[in-house]
Amino acid sequence: MAIHEVTQEEALQRCARCGSDNRLSLKSLEVGVARDGHVDADILPLPPCTQCRSTEFLIRSGEEEGAHLAPGSFGHLHRLLVNHLHAELVQRGRVIPAPRAKALAGTVLPRPVPRGVLARWFPKGLRIEAPHVEKTPNPGAPSE
Ligand SMILES: [Zn+2]
Repeated sequence: MAIHEVTQEEALQRCARCGSDNRLSLKSLEVGVARDGHVDADILPLPPCTQCRSTEFLIRSGEEEGAHLAPGSFGHLHRLLVNHLHAELVQRGRVIPAPRAKALAGTVLPRPVPRGVLARWFPKGLRIEAPHVEKTPNPGAPSE
């Protein structure tokens, strides 16, 4: 489950199952999942993949910035994007009704990712380039 880009209007999701890219309007997303009378406001359900219909969830991390073991790694950047997207949606009121009440009570409202952190890790926009493929030596190439 991964998103690769977040803009003011959209998030770009790459389906973990079939690999297709889905552009999701932020207007179509809502934070929060209600189940068994309990609401989890850290979860952001994504709409079904347009190709294979599989559904994915993004989960906001509660960990503090700076705690990541591999700064700059895909996992780190992805966590920043997810937290940013989650906070952005909350800010816009894109929350299912139950957690919004809870959030307004002051307990689950997440803090947005600081602008400086985003600027530092995403100097060219909130986008993760496709993971670099490890360069393996070409067995056919002449060695020096
Ligand atoms: Zn798919």
